[in-house]
Amino acid sequence: MDITIALTGASGNMGMETLRQIMEIDSVTKVKALFLNQPRERRYARKVKRLYKGRLEAIYGNIADMEKCRELVKDADYVLHLAAVIPPLADHKPKETDECNRVGTINIVNAVSEIKDKQPSLVHISTVAIYGNRNYKHPWGRVGDPLISSVFDEYSASKIKGERAVLDSDIRRWVVLRQTGILHSRMLTNNMKDGLMFHTCFNAPIEWVTARDSGLLMKHLVMKDAAGELGEEFWRKCYNIGGGARNRVTGYDTFDEGFKIIGGSTEKFMKPQWNSLRNFHCMWFEDSDVLNDYLDFQREDVKDYWQEILRKHSYYRIAKLFPAGLIRKLAIERLLKDENAPRKWIASNETARVKAFFGSGDNLQCMPSDWKDFPVLAKGELADGYIDYDDMRDINKVEENGYRLSHGYDESKPDCELDIEDMRAAAEFRGGRCLSESMTKGDLYTKLEWECHDGHRFFASPYAVLKAGHWCPECCQPQPWDYDRLSKFMPFYAQVWYDTHAREENNVYYFDRDHIARYAKISSREV
Ligand SMILES: [Zn+2]
Repeated sequence: MDITIALTGASGNMGMETLRQIMEIDSVTKVKALFLNQPRERRYARKVKRLYKGRLEAIYGNIADMEKCRELVKDADYVLHLAAVIPPLADHKPKETDECNRVGTINIVNAVSEIKDKQPSLVHISTVAIYGNRNYKHPWGRVGDPLISSVFDEYSASKIKGERAVLDSDIRRWVVLRQTGILHSRMLTNNMKDGLMFHTCFNAPIEWVTARDSGLLMKHLVMKDAAGELGEEFWRKCYNIGGGARNRVTGYDTFDEGFKIIGGSTEKFMKPQWNSLRNFHCMWFEDSDVLNDYLDFQREDVKDYWQEILRKHSYYRIAKLFPAGLIRKLAIERLLKDENAPRKWIASNETARVKAFFGSGDNLQCMPSDWKDFPVLAKGELADGYIDYDDMRDINKVEENGYRLSHGYDESKPDCELDIEDMRAAAEFRGGRCLSESMTKGDLYTKLEWECHDGHRFFASPYAVLKAGHWCPECCQPQPWDYDRLSKFMPFYAQVWYDTHAREENNVYYFDRDHIARYAKISSREV
C-alpha cells in the first residue's frame, strides 16, 4: 500500500523529527508539506527536498488560506496537523497565533471534512497548555480535566478553540494528541533569548518528552494504523503525550539539569523571585501510558537529552571555566529586562500581568531573593511545612492522595452504559444543564444540546464534554479570561482554580491584540 501524508508544521521542533521519521517508512511514497513562503522556511524546504527528492512535495503558503489547505490535504491518507505558533513567539504575536492555531485548524478541519470519498484520517496536535496551571495540590492530570487557559496566554486560548473545531467536526477518523513540553535541540538557545523562561514556576510539575520520541510516536501511528494494528477504537479520542515516569520533574529540576551541563545549578544561576508564582502550565500525566501502550514511543528522558545537547554543543563546556556569578549576570540577568519577563512587568507597573502571575503586589513583597527562604517542592518543602515528594510522585497513589480531579459523572461506568442521567450530572457539575431530553445509551458522538450557567446554548458531543473537558464555547474560551467568576458557578473549574487563586479575587482579564496591551478589571457582574 502506498501512503500519502499531508504535514503541517514540518519545520517546527516536533515537525522536523516527524518528517525525518515518517520518511523511514518505506510505504510512505509521498509527503506533502506546507511551508510558509518566507526565506527561513524556503531554505529549510530546499534542504529537505534535496534529501527526499520526489517523495517530498513542498507547498508554499499560509494555513490561514483555505485554498492552500485544500491543496495540501487532497489525496492524502493521513493529515498530520502540527503547525502552531508557540511561545515565546505567541506571547509577542497574538494575532498571528490566533490565525494559525484557531483559523488554520478550522481550515484544515473543513478541508478534510469536504472530502467525502476516501477521507484522510486527521491527527491534530494539541497541547498541555490547555489545562492551565497546576501546583502541588493537583500535580497530576488526565484527559477530561478542565481546560483552563492561563491568563493572557493566547497560545492556549487559540489551541482550545482549534481543538474544539476537531471535536465538533464530522470527520470520520480524527485523533487529538495533547503534546507536553518538548525537549528539542534549539531549546537552550531559544530560551536564552526571551523572558519566557521566567514564566516557569519553580514548583510546577512538568512531564517532558523529547522531540525524537514525539517523532517516533508519529511514525508508529502511521505504521501501525496502515498495518491495521491500531484498531478503530483508537480514533475519535484525545490523548496526552508525555515521556513517562522518568520525565516527571518540576521547573526547578528542569533548570537544574540544564545548568549542570555548564557547571551550574538553578540556585547558582537564578534567584527565586525572578520567576512567576502561578499562571504557568504543565502537569504530570496520570494517563500518558495510554498512548504509549498504543504507540510505544517513550525511549528517552531528561538526562539523556541534556547529555546529547552537551555532545552536540561541546563549547558549552567552556562555560564551566567562568564563575557562576558572571554567567548569571551575562547570560540570564539581562533577560530580566525583556518585555516578556515578570521582573520587567513589576518594574514598569504592568498591574494586570503582575496580578495574573503573582496574585497581588503583597505576594511580590514576600518573594525571597535567597534560596534558603524559598520552599522548593522537589526537596519536599512547602510554604507551611513538608511533603513526601516521592509519595506525591507515585502514580499508584494519585487517587488515594486526592490528586485526581472529578469529571462530574460516574466514571466507574463503562462508556457503553453512559446515559442521559450522566449527562445531567456532568452538566450540573459545570454549572449548567443538559437540554437534550434523551440520548442513545453509550453514544458519545451524536451531539446534544447544553446550556451554561450564563444561559448560552450550544451543541457538543458527550465525548467533548465528559471525556475531553470542553464546555461553553462562549464564556469558557478566552478572551476575556474570566475564570475567577466562572469558578463561582462551576465546581468543575473551582476544584483546581482555587489551588492558586484566592476566592476573593474577582478579576476579568482582557487583552488588546492590536496593541498587546493587557488589562484586568474587577468583575462588575453579579456573582
Ligand atoms: Zn457560556
